[in-house]
Amino acid sequence: MTSISNKAAWVDEPQQPCVKYMPFPKRPYRLVLLGAPGVGKGTQADLLCQELLTCHLSTGEVFRAIKDSDREKTAAQKEALAYIKRGELVPDEIVIDMVRERSDCFVCEYGFILDGFPRTLPQAAALRTMLGEVDVALDAVITYELPKEVIVDRLSGRRMCSNCRTNYHIEYKPPLQDGVCDRCAGPLVQREDDRPESVVVRLEEYQESTEPLIQYYRKAGLLMQISAMGDPQSVFRKTMGMLERLPSVVGS
Ligand code: AMP
Repeated sequence: MTSISNKAAWVDEPQQPCVKYMPFPKRPYRLVLLGAPGVGKGTQADLLCQELLTCHLSTGEVFRAIKDSDREKTAAQKEALAYIKRGELVPDEIVIDMVRERSDCFVCEYGFILDGFPRTLPQAAALRTMLGEVDVALDAVITYELPKEVIVDRLSGRRMCSNCRTNYHIEYKPPLQDGVCDRCAGPLVQREDDRPESVVVRLEEYQESTEPLIQYYRKAGLLMQISAMGDPQSVFRKTMGMLERLPSVVGS
């Protein structure tokens, strides 16, 4: 099966033309992934994208691409990067504008997986409006759950390819060769916001800003709660089992 987890389409340019892959998915899934930093959302998003032939839309990846880019940064981009460095959430207006620039992805016939957006109630309301404007409904909002101690352990060992942005873990998902990406041979690095001082702030931010979304999407009848304990493949199989039982489009 062709891998379409090349995140560049959303990261590089808002209007980047999307490469169309064959075959068409059996049905397009339109999903949001929630879960504290470190639960393995990014890994699950990669696996789901390959299986469902869907694009992975990650606001965190867009910010990291902006940080790594040689282009002159706008004032809003510089402001956003300062928040990220401290482990804090970027202000809603900046994130919402950035997603709006990329809203063509919401009408893609391959569906989409949003990872890291929305993260606050105002962002969820903005997403609802954006989807309403193009008459698209979410199929499900998946929340991955893990105890805090396990999260801290996972984050401290996480490494990311600075080229293609594939995630690894020094213990649970090591690369074949130390410090080198299996996919593209790029160098593996620790994310700036995975340092212990940023991790504590991020977990607090998650509890305060993002947990209310769980209630919001539960009320909307879209929430799918999944334990992220165990290896990535078993979490993925659980997720697919639940997705396959979903009726087509249940609400937005
Ligand atoms: P992530 O890769 O999703 O963990 O995102 C990395 C960092 O980017 C977060 O800790 C935030 O500082 C920032 N960020 C990403 N997405 C959002 C969002 N939807 N709202 C606010 N900040 C965000």
